[in-house]
Amino acid sequence: MNRAADALLLQHNLKALNLTNMARHLEQQLRQARDGGIDYGQFLLELTELELRIRCESREKRRLKEAKFPLLKPLETFDFEAVPQLDKRLVRDLATGDYLKARRNVILMGKSGAGKTHLATALGIEACRQSKRVRFVTGYALANELIEARTEKDLNRLLGKYARLDLLILDELGYVPFSKEGAELLFQILAERHERGSVIITTNLGFADWTQVFGDPNLTAALLDRLTHRAHIIECTWDSYRLKQSLKGGEKKAS
Ligand code: ADP
Ligand code: MG
Repeated sequence: MNRAADALLLQHNLKALNLTNMARHLEQQLRQARDGGIDYGQFLLELTELELRIRCESREKRRLKEAKFPLLKPLETFDFEAVPQLDKRLVRDLATGDYLKARRNVILMGKSGAGKTHLATALGIEACRQSKRVRFVTGYALANELIEARTEKDLNRLLGKYARLDLLILDELGYVPFSKEGAELLFQILAERHERGSVIITTNLGFADWTQVFGDPNLTAALLDRLTHRAHIIECTWDSYRLKQSLKGGEKKAS
């Protein structure tokens, strides 16, 4: 057999083994190996590393897309110096994803503009980078999605989809009160995830005000009990970042 025929066969085998990236880059890698005098072991190592790297990159891209973040704001764009009250070490620690392994929740509470959504998104992006399944959704949108699914007799499928996530990010819980049905369905999702998968919640409400949003005090108590059990609670007590930035801008202009 000649070299070209072997390479063709090899490419075919790689594809049959689902090693498509190796197949795609085979020719170029073979050429490089020959030109550079690379030995068999190193050649195979480089080719397999390439396959793994490309797979990992495309998985990350897929996870980011599936997560449906409204804006891609990673931790690199979060200005820790602007919010010295924030426990930076805790955020860095959360970014490692250990809380996901421990199935712990994170609750970000505080005023509008404090950076809760930014932090939740950044942690979600970190999770995607670790190949985790993430979904970002507002509490209101999720409640509506669940109600709609129930009407269309598609609720079980949707519940299954949410149960499979490694991380559910529920943004803006509390801005809009839920209907009775919405509250019950949301409770169901969160109860099912309890100790099975993590949830990050951002909210402008203190715990005492949650009944206003969920309606039923018993349901709210049961929900809070599960959600806050072993949760990291981050109280964003500072003023709006945006407001601070515009005030700063104003100061600069004035001086
Ligand atoms: P919240 O969800 O608490 O209402 P957001 O996360 O939406 O607040 O923040 C409001 C805006 O300010 C966003 O554009 C966000 O990216 C920005 N922001 C808030 N805090 C910071 C920060 N510490 N560093 C950089 N940008 C920030
Ligand atoms: Mg927000």
